[in-house]
Amino acid sequence: MKLGVHVSIAGSIDLSIDRARSLGLNTFQIFTRNPRGWKFSDLKESNIVNFKNKILSENISTVVCHMPYLPNLSSPKEDVHNMSINALSSELERCNTLGIEYVVTHIGSHLGTGLEKGLDRVVKACNAALSNSSNNTMIILENTAGTKNNVGSKFDELKYIFDNVNDKSRIGFCFDTCHAFAAGYDLSTSKSVIDTLKKFNQIIGLKYLKVVHLNDSKGELGNGLDRHQHIGRGFIGENGFRELLKNSTIKQLPLILETPIDETFDDEYNINKIYSLEN
Ligand code: MN
Ligand code: MN
Ligand code: ZN
Repeated sequence: MKLGVHVSIAGSIDLSIDRARSLGLNTFQIFTRNPRGWKFSDLKESNIVNFKNKILSENISTVVCHMPYLPNLSSPKEDVHNMSINALSSELERCNTLGIEYVVTHIGSHLGTGLEKGLDRVVKACNAALSNSSNNTMIILENTAGTKNNVGSKFDELKYIFDNVNDKSRIGFCFDTCHAFAAGYDLSTSKSVIDTLKKFNQIIGLKYLKVVHLNDSKGELGNGLDRHQHIGRGFIGENGFRELLKNSTIKQLPLILETPIDETFDDEYNINKIYSLEN
């Protein structure tokens, strides 16, 4: 199993690898820069070299990059949309430099202008970012929780984006279990997990799934709440995760925990919980 968590790059980006290894992980997710701003500085050559060397020497299988929070690929505001395209383009370049294949991005919010227009703006943004960056790094679209004005919470919306992106070799999907559950795709029983994955496979195709975010859900099925819970302690529950880990596609993918760190449990708890649910 490729199991990871989101780790910090504080200090220098290569220290993310030490943090992942100290938790016994062979995959992990990072931000390559401060996720709460638009501005960032270029990566230092020495940090790039250290990062790449450590990836090899520490036997890390896959590194996943997560886009910063401010870009909105569905935004109707032209300036924000353009800044978002630039942010995605530069993230694809930075990741290519670091040897990272996957850039996971949120699909965004149409801010009340309607789903259709929002979807077309995402398509435009993906096509622009892919042609701005001539490398092999992939855009990995993450399903959303179905909060008001969200784009990309339903599988047919994700499929629409896929169908309209020109370079299909550089587009894939990240399945966030909390978001799917919040958007109305049940994952709490064996049968519902099998049905949900079957739906994903029929509408999109499981072969386009590249990353899984393993999060339990604080909110009930279909309530649109993006609130992550410790594995087994939310409305998805242990049975749901046990069934997910049986799926032959899911088993082979990088599985990234984005569970809380709070007064009750931490990353180590959730990592051990997933191992205990593996069949
Ligand atoms: Mn995310
Ligand atoms: Mn996620
Ligand atoms: Zn989330």
